[in-house]
Amino acid sequence: MKVAVAGGAGFIGSHVCDVLLEAGHEVFVIDDLSSGTRENLDCRIPLHVLDVRSAEAARLIRHERPEALMLLAAQMDVRRSVEDPRFDADVNVGGLLNLVEAGARNGLRRVVFSSTGGAIYGEQDYFPAAESHPTRPCSPYGVSKAAGELYLGYYRQQHGLSYVALRYANVYGPRQSSKGEAGVVAIFCGKLLGDLACTIYGTGEQTRDYVYVGDVARANLAALSCEHVGPVNIGTGVETDVLHLHRKLATISGRGKPPLFAPSRPGEQHRSSVDNGLAQRVLGWRPEVNIDQGLTRTYTYFEKRALRSGTLPVSYSVPQ
Ligand code: NAD
Repeated sequence: MKVAVAGGAGFIGSHVCDVLLEAGHEVFVIDDLSSGTRENLDCRIPLHVLDVRSAEAARLIRHERPEALMLLAAQMDVRRSVEDPRFDADVNVGGLLNLVEAGARNGLRRVVFSSTGGAIYGEQDYFPAAESHPTRPCSPYGVSKAAGELYLGYYRQQHGLSYVALRYANVYGPRQSSKGEAGVVAIFCGKLLGDLACTIYGTGEQTRDYVYVGDVARANLAALSCEHVGPVNIGTGVETDVLHLHRKLATISGRGKPPLFAPSRPGEQHRSSVDNGLAQRVLGWRPEVNIDQGLTRTYTYFEKRALRSGTLPVSYSVPQ
């Protein structure tokens, strides 16, 4: 199948490209490289450096006529969305409309949309949240993702365009950037490799549902060809707190100064986890990598990368 991957040079998108290629799909990427990099991407995949909001990106979709669109490109910084909700909506809603409008009239049959399980439900009434849990996003980012889902519902009704909105929990793994706010695992790995103390906001007892990026990529592949239409949670249903993450990574790395504690960040959710029962039923998907295995793989990836680039402190010795 010919598949356009918007945001394919990013953390999750590049892993999605890897599994698509391996499954024999014809893939091309649209990415403005605002947070993604060319190095993330398999060199066999054509990369079009374009903004998803641009007329050129719409023209490319009309010209290439992909059968499927994996939409991962987004403004995904929650704090930025609070500071500048118009920019957030411009990229997350405007970008979606630009590509889907172009595609819906030119052979596009399926959209796999990267939505959010962490930000769409707001403070949860119960744990883990099913897809039927009320959506009460408490940031413009959560609102723009919910709006994206609603627009796709409209295109389904009016244009017969089929879609799945994958509501990811907290995704972590190789290639994640430590620059954003979401990547606590990547941030802690960077600190440990630099022999620096990690900062924990609040008590560290706040929980998230951490799902490994390789599992998320497999969910995208399954979503491409299944019959299901609508939202599907992609998470483990398991809550892990930040203190556990830190302890585990400190053990894996064989180092780790005691963490620093800072005041909790305003508006931060206390707990979050999503139920993956629907994903099991409609995608035949379940997570295969547990948190301890995933953290080991992720730390090893960052360590190898730092060794290659010669950025480790001289005192660093590779744990046996
Ligand atoms: P990422 O920043 O690594 O990937 C986003 C990619 O989109 C980057 O390559 C970036 O350069 C590109 N991009 C951004 N704005 C663009 C624009 N205007 N035009 C073209 N390309 C643009 O982030 P990620 O963690 O891989 O997230 C991918 C998707 O998954 C996003 O839609 C995000 O909202 C969603 N998501 C991520 C998580 C998570 O835990 N990482 C959780 C829930 C949902």
